[in-house]
Amino acid sequence: MTQIYVCRKCRKRYSLEEFRQSHFCRDCGTYLTARTVTSTSHSRRTATTRAETEESASGDQWLPKGYEVREGQVKFIEEAAKALENRQVFVGSAPCGIGKSLASLLSVLPRLGENKLLISFRTRSQLHIFLKELKGLEQPPLTVSFFSKQDMCPLRMKTGGSYFDFLEECRRLKENCETGTKPFCQFYWNMTKKKRQAEELALDCARKILDPKEAVQRMAKSGFCAYEALKRVLGKVQIFLGTYNYTFNPPVRKALLQSWGVDLSDVYLIVDEAHNIPAFARELLSDRMAPNTVENALKETENFEHKNLGEVQDYLNVLDKNIFPQIQKGLGNLNLKLLDPQDVADRFLEWSGASSEEAAETLHEYGESVRERRQELGSDKIFSYAHRVGDFMENFFQRVGKQYVHLIRKDWGDRVYLEVKSLDGREITDPVLRQARGSIVMSGFLSPPKVYRDLILRSPKDVYLREFDSPFPAENRLILAAGDVSSRFEKRTDSMLKKWAEYVEAISAANEGNMAVFFTSYNLMDSILSHIDVDRRMIVEKRRTKRSEVMDNLSGSRRNVLFGVMGGKFSEGMDYPNNLLTCVVTVGLPYATWSVYQRALISYFDSQFPGRGRDYAYLTPAIFRLVQACGRVHRSAEDKGCIVMLDERITRPDIRQLLPSYYQKEMRIVANSMECGENIADFWETHRKL
Ligand code: SF4
Repeated sequence: MTQIYVCRKCRKRYSLEEFRQSHFCRDCGTYLTARTVTSTSHSRRTATTRAETEESASGDQWLPKGYEVREGQVKFIEEAAKALENRQVFVGSAPCGIGKSLASLLSVLPRLGENKLLISFRTRSQLHIFLKELKGLEQPPLTVSFFSKQDMCPLRMKTGGSYFDFLEECRRLKENCETGTKPFCQFYWNMTKKKRQAEELALDCARKILDPKEAVQRMAKSGFCAYEALKRVLGKVQIFLGTYNYTFNPPVRKALLQSWGVDLSDVYLIVDEAHNIPAFARELLSDRMAPNTVENALKETENFEHKNLGEVQDYLNVLDKNIFPQIQKGLGNLNLKLLDPQDVADRFLEWSGASSEEAAETLHEYGESVRERRQELGSDKIFSYAHRVGDFMENFFQRVGKQYVHLIRKDWGDRVYLEVKSLDGREITDPVLRQARGSIVMSGFLSPPKVYRDLILRSPKDVYLREFDSPFPAENRLILAAGDVSSRFEKRTDSMLKKWAEYVEAISAANEGNMAVFFTSYNLMDSILSHIDVDRRMIVEKRRTKRSEVMDNLSGSRRNVLFGVMGGKFSEGMDYPNNLLTCVVTVGLPYATWSVYQRALISYFDSQFPGRGRDYAYLTPAIFRLVQACGRVHRSAEDKGCIVMLDERITRPDIRQLLPSYYQKEMRIVANSMECGENIADFWETHRKL
């Protein structure tokens, strides 16, 4: 008996050696299937033994029945598998249609063995795509998926405090189950009484690959806490899907690995929608606090005695009566201002007579005693505002150095916050991605991938960087950029607004099917709208506009034009199936609002990537929002349509090189609105003839 590899489509056969070089048919690109054939020769027997070992790594046993791996997936799997083999972090930009979720699974599963797979997602729709792919596999491994504990708690406890306070409350309710004290958690109590039944049910959820909501419903129906029950069977589970916190938040990850019974080096990672990671990691290292937290902490001191009560009140009063008002005064009419933490610490010392470290420690100590006291009193909420103030002081005064900025911010509701913001999340992301057994970091929009690589990893060493082209036929799209309009502030004259309006009118007249026009801001949208006259139903995005209403309108007729903003709910994360949109027009370049924070970010990135600070901090996020909006047209290989970017800056080499490579290749520059309309009319004319 020996092992060969056969193409299920054209029946071509491959040896083990050939299979090792590529898992796909050289002629038609189909994924190869292992077959055993009879043979008596010794050499073939030897090959069989080796082949049997290889079979488990071939991956064919995972493929869904009758599923033909797509061309883009073939490339993805081959390259990601190669990166994992070479212990490199795979960073891939894979546009819509590649099928990257299944491809990433097929890159890891054949080599999983005794190891584990942690899939990190940000949105629920990403989670459901992975769950669907996993359910479709031939032999799906035991899989669980988690939201946060609070989101999975059937008691829906609202502690009124931080997430930490919720965890404390949960811990207390569980402890009360052990001691038989009230109040206790009925769901947890049931688990202690019917341990085996709870674990059986949890394993069944893992076999059925239920999403967290389904698992919570199923377990709660039998009286159990899904979070705790699933955690208990983690040791038997091979795949864990969780929000970014489970991967990147150090204490959360530590707890997960402990329950799973593995080290990070035993875990493969797949991180989806990775364009979010730099901001997510920076957020983990940031903190902010409003004055009302200090006010609540002061009220707390009226109810809870402590040996250091006088000092605690002094520190809180200094924050409430001196620090906040004085800093707020310095803010004047601004919304954001940089602070020097040393200056704030000096002022605190001057007014309170204590250093910020001493004060934070005292507040923590007091906060602990408040929590204990609340617990003794059987309070519904186990938390302490003073403890929270202590946390913030620690973060604000200890997170210093060039990778942090300290700010005072006023939000749109005139609320004021003190903030410490991280400018660099690599201290969070780099060690995780490198210490894991293998990491696949991917997104549909890593444009340009190099920038995202640099924002999550400290060095390009041992990184496999790959940008895939769109798998959709190039002839189904027309990409245009206008060479005579710009949203640069000094060029936003009345005549520029009219020019934009002329473009929208020309495109509207030439385009076949629904179109959307996305602006850089609501202000710009309102200014241009008054100049636009089109023979279509105009749907204008407002804060309260419902997605379902818009979809109903678009489905009911092909003569709609949707007006919205880039970065808004209609230009990102919204799917327009069945070619509901045949044209997207973007007006301007959606830069972030210019602020001292943006300046600090640019200057920090300049220090890290000399001469590239603006690209990394300012341009790349703008390109992301732009490409997201443009990406609403082509959602499947059959979708046809036009993308028109109305800003001449996009045509300049420094900005053009940040666009996805297929945009750079295919983009045509038009000199005016008439030429733009003609190009669009020609595009549809050609498609009518096909
Ligand atoms: S044990 Fe489960 S059900 Fe009980 S409080 Fe904690 S999370 Fe909620």
